[in-house]
Amino acid sequence: MNCFNENCKKNDIFTKMMLCKGCYKSYYCSRLCQKEHWKNEHRHVCKMHKKECEKKYQIKLISSNNNGLFATKTIYRAEKIISEKSILTGQSEADILSKYMKLNQQNKTIFDNLHNQFPEINRIHGIFKTHAIPLGENSNIGGIFPIISRCNHSCKANAISLWDNIDKVEKLFAIKKINPNEEIRVNYNKDYLNNTQQRIAQLQQQFNFICNCECCTQNDEQSNKNLDYMQSIHSGIVTGMPNKPEQTLLQIYDLLKLIKFEFPNNDHIYYVSCYDLFQNYIYLQDKKNAHKWLYNAYICSKIYLGENDDFVKKNTKYLSIERIHTHPTYRFTQYSQGYKG
Ligand SMILES: [Zn+2]
Ligand SMILES: [Zn+2]
Ligand SMILES: [Zn+2]
Repeated sequence: MNCFNENCKKNDIFTKMMLCKGCYKSYYCSRLCQKEHWKNEHRHVCKMHKKECEKKYQIKLISSNNNGLFATKTIYRAEKIISEKSILTGQSEADILSKYMKLNQQNKTIFDNLHNQFPEINRIHGIFKTHAIPLGENSNIGGIFPIISRCNHSCKANAISLWDNIDKVEKLFAIKKINPNEEIRVNYNKDYLNNTQQRIAQLQQQFNFICNCECCTQNDEQSNKNLDYMQSIHSGIVTGMPNKPEQTLLQIYDLLKLIKFEFPNNDHIYYVSCYDLFQNYIYLQDKKNAHKWLYNAYICSKIYLGENDDFVKKNTKYLSIERIHTHPTYRFTQYSQGYKG
């Protein structure tokens, strides 16, 4: 977890963070960091988080057939860039074609102006495959969004787009400070622990392009080693927790340390590890630490997903130590341990 104060010298991963009570959009390791960040930057940003403000981006031509989204002003970490409704959602090819036929003229023009990365298949299906964003992480329904769908890819993205299942809109957030004229990019590669080779293969297979982001062209050997190690930890967590909780705990801390290094500020990734730590501490019957990591997971998800999100809502109920043992995961774990003998 990276404290929002960019000058923060504290670099450990064990801290319980504190959330800004003004906006619920930034967190700190200490009062001191909160004060410093407030003075330097946050006092201008805190109130702004609450209102939808003016346009922060423009679409610019990058090459003959490729547009990109560019910041027109400084966009701060966790700031919402845009939220928008889909003009076309669909699943199968037939579904997409029939919905395309029903589009009004304005939306048809928007759709037709999108680039097709799959010239060998039906044009409408090709455009859909190029630009559709799944409605939620595990959804097999995709949607075309007039602006967000034009966001290009980078393996080291500065933005993230998330589906809001309550308001039925896709939201684009900055995950780090984006400077004016900087291109806004998201990571199309959903498996964030993939190494360079795996990422390039997946992107080519799914989106028909060869990634030439700075990450992939560098092909950093140490970084790939880290990612492979992180994958091995990640795949062992589920069986490790109930069987070897002490050892697994150290591995998850290792994982979080490396995530912080490889994906600085990426709260959407942190929250998975924070939640893993919460679960692991339950196996160790350590209420205090379980509570700390549930709280950190809650913070990391809340700054992007807001208070209406299912995960955030579910966990809001357990944010006092006195109630933590009523958490479903807690009960389930004790129950299963009881049966293990
Ligand atoms: Zn700090
Ligand atoms: Zn604030
Ligand atoms: Zn790349």
